[in-house]
Amino acid sequence: MKVLKLTNISARYGSIEALRNIDLQIPDGSIVTLLGSNGAGKSTVLKVISGVVKPANGNIHYKGEDVTGQTPDQIVRRRIIQCPENRQVFPQLTVLENLRIGSYARKDRNQVKTDLEQVLALFPRLKERLSQYAGTLSGGEQQMLAIGRALMGSPKVLLLDEPSLGLAPIIVREIFEIIKNVNQIGTSILLVEQNANLALSIADHAYVLENGRIALSGKASDLKKDERVRELYLGVK
Ligand code: ATP
Repeated sequence: MKVLKLTNISARYGSIEALRNIDLQIPDGSIVTLLGSNGAGKSTVLKVISGVVKPANGNIHYKGEDVTGQTPDQIVRRRIIQCPENRQVFPQLTVLENLRIGSYARKDRNQVKTDLEQVLALFPRLKERLSQYAGTLSGGEQQMLAIGRALMGSPKVLLLDEPSLGLAPIIVREIFEIIKNVNQIGTSILLVEQNANLALSIADHAYVLENGRIALSGKASDLKKDERVRELYLGVK
């Protein structure tokens, strides 16, 4: 079963063609990674899925239902939840307040309480800092908070934009372990990453974007061995 399916998606910003004829599928329960250099269109793929950018062409299906052109609010209510690039936590709010914002669209308040406990179990660093202002957290902790806030929306599909950006390797490893755990509790994940090596090591499937087009796709383990991927994205010649 494909939880999410993009068919022939194109997107533009004015005269700039950011995506051209993208076909991409996320099998239920899997981690799919989207690789590509700066400006290739990776963030735009996430924005098209989350309803922030309207596609010029093509269709998006969620569990078989056509959700093309729905608003970000409608997409969030379907539990397709994006964790944005550069974290974007609310610096003047506490850790707990930021987490609560993640559950704003939900009506199942009892389940929200359980999810908060689960998120705090995944991120003990956040649990120790519930009343601390988010703006005073370290970069790694802010990334954890951004992921935690997305999880408070109880995602069926989690869209992660560059979770490793600007973080020390040890924190990146910690965050990737958590991403694996989140996947194991049943969340499908679309992971945009510059760190191709790490992304391919946790993903089931991978797509490589070049100039708004899918240049390569396949099993992550196969792409890790692919000469072009190794040369361009893994720095191996
Ligand atoms: P990065 O890794 O640098 O974030 P990316 O692969 O995520 O890059 P996108 O951010 O999706 O790439 O951008 C794809 C193209 O669309 C780029 O040429 C970019 O300049 C352009 N673009 C993105 N957002 C806008 C916008 N709001 N207005 C105009 N052009 C945009």
